[in-house]
Amino acid sequence: MVQGDLPKYGLLIDNHCEEAVGGAWLESINPYTAQPWALIPRGDERDVARATAAAKQAFNGTWRSMPASGRAALLRRLADLVEQHAELLAELETRDNGKLISETRAQLRYIPQWFHFYAGLADKINGKVIPIDKPGVFNYTLHEPLGVIAVIPAWNSPLMLAVWKLAPALAAGNTIVWKPSEHASVSSLEFCKLFAQAGFPPGVVNIVTGYGNEAGEPLVTHPDVAMVAFTGGDQTGQRVYELAAKGIKRVTLELGGKSANIVFADAPLDDAVNGVIAGIFAASGQTCIAGSRALVQRSIHDEFVRRLVDIASPARMGDPASPTTQIAPITTQAQHRKILDHIDFARTEGATIRLGGMPGRRAECGAGWFVEPTILTDVTPQMRIAREEVFGPVLSILPFDTDAQAIQLANDSPYGLAAGVWTQNFGRALLAATELQAGTVWVNTYRASSYMAPFGGYKRSGIGREGGTDAVYEFLQTKSIWFDTAGKTPNPFVMR
Ligand code: NAP
Repeated sequence: MVQGDLPKYGLLIDNHCEEAVGGAWLESINPYTAQPWALIPRGDERDVARATAAAKQAFNGTWRSMPASGRAALLRRLADLVEQHAELLAELETRDNGKLISETRAQLRYIPQWFHFYAGLADKINGKVIPIDKPGVFNYTLHEPLGVIAVIPAWNSPLMLAVWKLAPALAAGNTIVWKPSEHASVSSLEFCKLFAQAGFPPGVVNIVTGYGNEAGEPLVTHPDVAMVAFTGGDQTGQRVYELAAKGIKRVTLELGGKSANIVFADAPLDDAVNGVIAGIFAASGQTCIAGSRALVQRSIHDEFVRRLVDIASPARMGDPASPTTQIAPITTQAQHRKILDHIDFARTEGATIRLGGMPGRRAECGAGWFVEPTILTDVTPQMRIAREEVFGPVLSILPFDTDAQAIQLANDSPYGLAAGVWTQNFGRALLAATELQAGTVWVNTYRASSYMAPFGGYKRSGIGREGGTDAVYEFLQTKSIWFDTAGKTPNPFVMR
């Protein structure tokens, strides 16, 4: 492969498109062809330093002095530009990370709404006047931005996960240095150009690409970065948290999951089958909210498994750029290997493969890194496949007898990102929603999301919330301001 033939996508610092200081480039691989198709800059701490300096200058200059209504107007203009460029961005993302075009298009159609929502919030960030219970003082609060925010998303939905951070952080008045995953940076580099077109001042949003250790770590540890908004695996999240702790920095961590999809015997079965399939085979299971554990009441277990296999086995694998494809390739070769290793280990531990369990070898799979939709039974709660995140199209089915046992099994996980409950009994659903240790609980649906609703994890699934009004306060700090109104000096040796 002649590197020079591949299109190059530059960094954006201070609204200028640039190469990395070191001049090196990384190949971005198309997971369907397993071939490089584009080049991205291999940035390092020198590029991070330049981007952070630009973001700091913008924060202390134009951005800080701009009224909130001005920020809101820019966010709305950006939303309109995203709408105009949605098709191009969706195509780039599909080529870059192998996600189905039907899903990248849907995400790009929805992303403008995130900017509209937070544009609407930008000029409604009010402090409070607090009626203090002491005479002679007046107190009020302000919510102020933090400064430069590091935005570090994962590769599975690079633009959507970045926008979940960018929109509230910018509405709150912060500036940004964004480090996408080396496995899927191209759509982000293209997207970043829209900020300048929308009229954002130079330095407000900057993007540096490169490896996690070479560009990500210097960004997390840079003394001028005030906060890290991160999405990724829990091991990397822990590393980022430790590094941020050294600088006493705020973090939001959106991490992995091992979510339970609980099917009670009284569930609407056709809907539950579709919901369990959507939970694990959409995005080829490369989603943090994958419902990778189906807990099925024993009396319907065999019938339920039969129906799952009937629906999942004819799922169409193939070119993710085709709107009729249902199962896309795995984004990286390393992740492909990891998924197959998990399946092999589950087999040695005694799980039964009811569907799939193999790399996708149909003609439509081409050279791509496919894994067949895989369904495992005879899985016990102690097995590795029931405890660790696979991040692939692998469903473990565990039977249960009683409601209490279902909740106990669901909560028996280090993770707590999401859960599904399928039942027609309202009281049972309400109790389960209360008892489940998960940041999101879906009842008779799965994988619904909106900019209006908060999203985030319990336990090892993370810290903080994205979406809804909660998210904007992650990017703000509260100042408490006191005035004396009594006009006389109090006793200096006694706390007022
Ligand atoms: P990852 O390996 O943890 O990487 C996440 C991001 O961190 C990438 O941009 C990565 O860049 C960067 N990074 C890696 N090492 C770093 C370091 N030492 N310092 C700073 N940044 C570093 O995760 P992934 O494989 O991309 O994504 C899959 C994981 O994300 C799964 O566990 C999934 O559940 C989770 N996820 C969670 C959510 C959620 O909202 N809770 C959503 C989607 C995905 P490079 O790729 O360039 O190394």
